[in-house]
This record gives sequence, structure tokens and C-alpha cells, in this order.
Amino acid sequence: MKPDHEGNGLKDLRPILDGSRTSERSRGVSRTEVLRLAGAAVLVAAVVPGGLTTLISSRVLADGGVLTVTEIAPGVFVHQGQHALFSPENGGDISNCGFVVGRDAVAVVDTGGSFTVGRKLMAAIRAVTDRPVRYVINTHMHPDHVFGNAAFEDEGTTFAGHHKMARGLSARSERYLAINAKSLGEAAFEGTRIVLPKLAVQQQTVIDLGGRELVLDAHRTAHTDNDLTVRDTATGTVFMGDLLFSGHVPTIDGSIRGWIGVISALQQSQAARVVPGHGPPSMPWPDAARDLMRYLDRVKTGVQAAIKAGKTLGQAAETVGLEEKDAWSLFTEYHPRNVSAAFAELEWE
Ligand SMILES: [Zn+2]
Repeated sequence: MKPDHEGNGLKDLRPILDGSRTSERSRGVSRTEVLRLAGAAVLVAAVVPGGLTTLISSRVLADGGVLTVTEIAPGVFVHQGQHALFSPENGGDISNCGFVVGRDAVAVVDTGGSFTVGRKLMAAIRAVTDRPVRYVINTHMHPDHVFGNAAFEDEGTTFAGHHKMARGLSARSERYLAINAKSLGEAAFEGTRIVLPKLAVQQQTVIDLGGRELVLDAHRTAHTDNDLTVRDTATGTVFMGDLLFSGHVPTIDGSIRGWIGVISALQQSQAARVVPGHGPPSMPWPDAARDLMRYLDRVKTGVQAAIKAGKTLGQAAETVGLEEKDAWSLFTEYHPRNVSAAFAELEWE
């Protein structure tokens, strides 16, 4: 079907679509994709006349070329990824990502698990604003949060991350790419490359989007050794990355003691709302960390007790933390590894 922009009551939508088209190439949204969006919008507009917001979100569902995003606070948008392992079906859309719109520019926080997801996030940004994406901030090195980076490569875009992220991701790059190519399949993996952060956050870095500052804080080893949080000072919203899981079982790739310590410290600070790396787009703070902290504490104390009783890692894995099984998705996939990681860390205490 040839998309028809004229004479069908779509005038209200045209500024958005035209805006998307002005510099499609630099923004990574192809002309075909923009036209497909227009086509999908025609279908939805027939059902829901007026109401631009409804139109945008319905268009997303109808098309699939744009990530669904929720505006959780003024100018703060979040996409909720699925709770799943990488697969051709989900295309790597298995973690949360989002963006913050300032007066002059946009900052992206995490980019999804494939180039395709990154491009769909870019399309979601273009449905909201034409302002340039000046920053891409990665909350840590895991593939489901950084493999969409290449969709934002542009001369004017600065990639930012914890000062240890580039080293950590480089060390694992070959393995990460090989595993992901295999689990996503050729089509969903296409275009995925690793783009390392150039702006290395030592402790704290503040970036300005034009009357709107984001505070980037580098943390000590917790979920990984390169966890970064992003605070939008305008709304008090904090992107927690994978320092916060909700629903999806936490995964330990750093230090269980460090993680408990970092969250305990963050619980002392105020936030209007937080965005987990996996879970709902927005959660209240500090309540949001309750389940996570209960899980981490049970794994830690369980492993410590097993070590004290002279049990092996295998024995610990059969008993520790099993009372948490029904509280989390992907428990079977990740929990045994968490026990192993905790055991390796705690046996030398
Ligand atoms: Zn992670």
C-alpha cells in the first residue's frame, strides 16, 4: 500500500513525520521506515481521530518500527524491555532504555540490546522531538544495554560511561558479539557493533542539555565494576541501570557485598522516582529496592552459612536462596550463577 499523506485528516501529524524526514540519514532512520510509520499512522488515525498522544502510542503498536515509551516525568521517557533472554523474537529488546529532552539537546540512557533496538529508540525520540542527541550514556557494559549504541553514532554525539566501562567491555567484546550473533540470529543482529564511551566518568560528571543538567555518578563495584547512575536534576528522576532490578531476577557480575553497600548508601538519598534496568519504567524510591535487597541479603547470608558449614559450591547451589524462586522471572536461568559468584567472593572473607 502506498502511504498517502494528503487529504486524510493527517495534517496534525505531518510536522512530526516531516521532522523525522529532514535528516534521516544522520539519525539512522531510513526513509522506508519513516514512510512505514506514516502508513501505520493512517490506519490508526481512522480509528482514533485526533489525540496526538494516542496516535503516537497506537502507531508504535501497529508498526513495531518505534519503541513504545512512557513519559514518566516531564521530558523523561522510558521504554520497558521484556524479561527474557536474547532471542530472534525479541530482537534484543530485553532491558530498559530511555531519554531526557533538554532545551537544546537530548541525552539517551542505554540503547537496548541490538542495533535494531537502538534505531527504534531513535525513532521514538524523533516522534517526540527534533533536538539533536548530544549524549549517549551507558549505565554499564552489558550487551542488553549497549548494543544499540551504533544507531546513535554521529559526529555530534558523545558516548559516556563509567571510567572502567571501556576496559571491561573491550575485554569481553569478542565473546559478547559472538554470543549475541548466535542468540539473536543474523537478521536481528545485523548492524550491531560495539561503540565504547569516550567521556569517562571518574566520580561525577555533570552534563547540560540546555537548562537541564544530568548528574552522572560512577559507583564502586556492585552489579558490575562499571555501574553508573544518571540523575535528572529537573525532575529528581534517577536512572539506576542494573543497580536496580524489579521482577527480573538480579544478576551478579561484580560484588554482592559491594552491591548491597551501594544500594544502602543510595537509599539514604532522595529521588522523586527511579528507573530500574529491568522492571517497570518508573518506581518509587527507596521502596523500589526492597525486593532486590531482600534477594541479595538472602543469597549472601545463605552462602556465608554454607561456607561456614564446610559445604561445597555445588551443595550451596542446591539450597541457597531457593525461597526466592517464585518472586522473580528468569530465576532458573540466573540464580545458580549468582550463588556461584557470591560463593567465589565470600569464601575468602
Ligand atoms: Zn546488567
